Amino acid sequence: MPDNPIYDIIIVGGGLVGASLAAALRATPLKIAIIEAAPWFTDKRPPSYDDRIIALNDASHKIFSGLGLWEKIAPEATPIKQIHISDQGHFGFTNLDSKDLGAPALGYVVSARHLGESLKEILANSSIDIIAPAKFLDINQSDNLLNIEITQNKQRQTLQTRLLVAADGGTSKVRQHLGIKNHSIDYGQTAIIRNVTLEYPHKNVAYERFTPSGPLALLPLQNNDCALVWTVASDKTDEVMALDDQTFLKSLQQQFGWRLGQFRQIGQRHSYPLQLSRIQEHTRPRVVIIGNAAHTLHPIAGQGFNLGLRDVASLSEVIIESLEAGEDVGSEITLQAYVARQEPDQQHITNITNMLVQVFSNSFPPLVVARNFGLLVTDAFPPLKKLLVRRMAGLSAYPSRLLCGLPTTNIKYGNITTLN
Ligand SMILES: Cc1cc2nc3c(=O)[nH]c(=O)nc-3n(C[C@H](O)[C@H](O)[C@H](O)COP(=O)(O)OP(=O)(O)OC[C@H]3O[C@@H](n4cnc5c(N)ncnc54)[C@H](O)[C@@H]3O)c2cc1C
Repeated sequence: MPDNPIYDIIIVGGGLVGASLAAALRATPLKIAIIEAAPWFTDKRPPSYDDRIIALNDASHKIFSGLGLWEKIAPEATPIKQIHISDQGHFGFTNLDSKDLGAPALGYVVSARHLGESLKEILANSSIDIIAPAKFLDINQSDNLLNIEITQNKQRQTLQTRLLVAADGGTSKVRQHLGIKNHSIDYGQTAIIRNVTLEYPHKNVAYERFTPSGPLALLPLQNNDCALVWTVASDKTDEVMALDDQTFLKSLQQQFGWRLGQFRQIGQRHSYPLQLSRIQEHTRPRVVIIGNAAHTLHPIAGQGFNLGLRDVASLSEVIIESLEAGEDVGSEITLQAYVARQEPDQQHITNITNMLVQVFSNSFPPLVVARNFGLLVTDAFPPLKKLLVRRMAGLSAYPSRLLCGLPTTNIKYGNITTLN
């Protein structure tokens, strides 16, 4: 690599969000690099390309279609036709159906591992530079560029860029380095994930069951398996993780009931501490923060990555617009256009997610009665149900080109030149 190479865009973090942004911009003439701390070119992979199961909503399905990735994802994606929501030991329930959305499915269930592998495959055939394993260390402004210091193979190196995108996850070093405040709530809950095999067919129904210890979700997978996301109080995590398989299944059966028959085989358990956090400033000169680095959500409504992908759709669009207009991709105008399009969506989804966790993790009797009536009213009132389904599908967000399922790879850039 030459000394101090200059990029138009450096993306710190090659997780699902950073890699998706690179995929969205791969057909532009921009010189782009991803700096990723984890190994990339071996069998090892970035930490979030793991066994967690992601429920992609309709907006994400459209965005991945626009990115030209859906055909790679589809063979391993299981459609969700219905979502059954219930409150353990109480009368309330509601059923959401793909007909309420007017789409073949409410969403699709796919492993983070498969999403990550599909992204890596598409980036391997692009001109994006992947600098990995390498860590972001420091950032300094110089004229119209940023100097980014990284470490790779124990050596420090400086790269220059017109725009730095921080997609380095919930503990973002870029955010910390810039002193950007992060409003966070620790729910004292941990998600335990694991695949289970069912006795009865799941019929592509996803289940969200609120229990006194926290929400429990079962997402349909291929071969009549389900992905379990079980939220427990953090001080009980070690105990639940240490249970032998039979006791674990028995306890799960007690919480969920027998609607799907007996839970049978189970896969490996993994645990993730849960919190909500949201940044208070989205940009600094020539820097923008996206994905979990900007907002980390409880998985109660399966919205974290879906929202991060809409950050990608909005940001890639303003970058392409500034490129077409012959403007600087890192300018204040570009970054403010992104904030104007994406901040309302981020606020809305973090507020809804927080409200769901607070309301459904609370056993205050009047609130329990109110939330059960809420579930029944939603079930009985189709316009309300349609509104809810549309919001959770991500379709009320800014209608970027990608969110409308339109590609970003077929734009003609003519004689547009970039910095390099
Ligand atoms: C149990 C569970 C279930 C979930 N289910 C869903 C779901 O159903 N639907 C949904 O939409 N979302 C879901 N999510 C949320 C989703 O997993 C995250 O929102 C998403 O993975 C965030 O991606 P990201 O790329 O923003 O961050 P990350 O995945 O954290 O990626 C950040 C990347 O940055 C790299 N990095 C960090 N520091 C540096 C540095 N200094 N230099 C270079 N690189 C660095 C890391 O190695 C990493 O690869 C779930 C989360 C959990 C925990």
